[in-house]
Amino acid sequence: MPKSAAERAAEAARSAGRAGGYCWVENATGPGHCTLRPGHTGRHRDFYRDRDFD
Ligand SMILES: [Zn+2]
Repeated sequence: MPKSAAERAAEAARSAGRAGGYCWVENATGPGHCTLRPGHTGRHRDFYRDRDFD
């Protein structure tokens, strides 16, 4: 099934972080992404902004 441009853009943004070895889940409560390793347990954490999030 072909993907929309928006889906491709979102995927590219995710894989950019993943390529750096990060979980890279978006912080829904503010800017930033999870900088823990992919597949980690517990809360997500943005190391750069010193924030935890679910
Ligand atoms: Zn995470």
